[in-house]
Amino acid sequence: MSRVVVITGGSKGIGRATALKFLEERPDLVLVYYDQTEEEINGTLSMIRERGHEAEAYKRDVSSYREVESLFSEILKAHGRIDVLVNNAGITRDRLLVRMSEEDWDRLLEVNLKSVFNCSYFAVKAMMKERSGVIVNVSSVVGQIGNVGQCNYAASKAGIMGFTKSLAREVAPRGIRVNAVAPGFIDTEMTQALPEKVKEMFISSIPMGRMGRPEEVAEVIYWLCGEGSSYLTGQVIHVNGGLYM
Ligand code: NAP
Repeated sequence: MSRVVVITGGSKGIGRATALKFLEERPDLVLVYYDQTEEEINGTLSMIRERGHEAEAYKRDVSSYREVESLFSEILKAHGRIDVLVNNAGITRDRLLVRMSEEDWDRLLEVNLKSVFNCSYFAVKAMMKERSGVIVNVSSVVGQIGNVGQCNYAASKAGIMGFTKSLAREVAPRGIRVNAVAPGFIDTEMTQALPEKVKEMFISSIPMGRMGRPEEVAEVIYWLCGEGSSYLTGQVIHVNGGLYM
């Protein structure tokens, strides 16, 4: 039986690479995105079709409890269960704290952290009925070591680490595993937006001397969702070229 796999932020970057990796097992694939145009999301769906597969794409704001509630009820109506949830959707709103608006703080925490609560809440309820399931949350190295201009982002990603460990403890007896990945500096639209000088500065502090590729994070997410990691729960796996050890 195909696994039902839900990936938030599955339309590009790390989420899209994860979706493409999952195609190996021919899952029932559900991608959630929010701001992309129809043309952009169709580009992602075409990539999936070129590999001989189909996916469903839902345009939903994962920070909204109500939107997520109706999203999961639609998914459950169509597929009957959820086997894998990858909480990957995320944004940045970089500013020094003294220049950060309340909106920069609130919106970022809603998209990056509240979304993880929203989606996990409805997924776990469904997984508990099956007494199985896997959740992988996408945190960041910044949640561990901090970064100038990213108080909001670092707080959200550190929050994800705490959330992961707490939920892992709650649901382990029900056969559900919850882990996190903490990527370092990965080449996606999120980091392409940074000025060249800042990128060079980051790269110079990475022992492996280069940015990571989204596929290199996707490999680890996929592994965390599979039998190869069956005795892992509550862990944060760092994928960062040695930036943080
Ligand atoms: P990205 O290319 O900008 O992709 C972000 C994804 O999140 C997009 O699919 C986007 O869809 C979706 N998204 C954003 N807001 C959303 C919302 N309100 N509702 C639903 N979907 C939403 O970024 P990425 O680099 O792949 O990042 C993926 C995750 O990895 C994020 O959580 C990020 O914080 C984390 N991460 C990235 C790096 C890095 O260096 N790139 C490092 C550490 C951690 P739309 O465009 O349609 O809104």
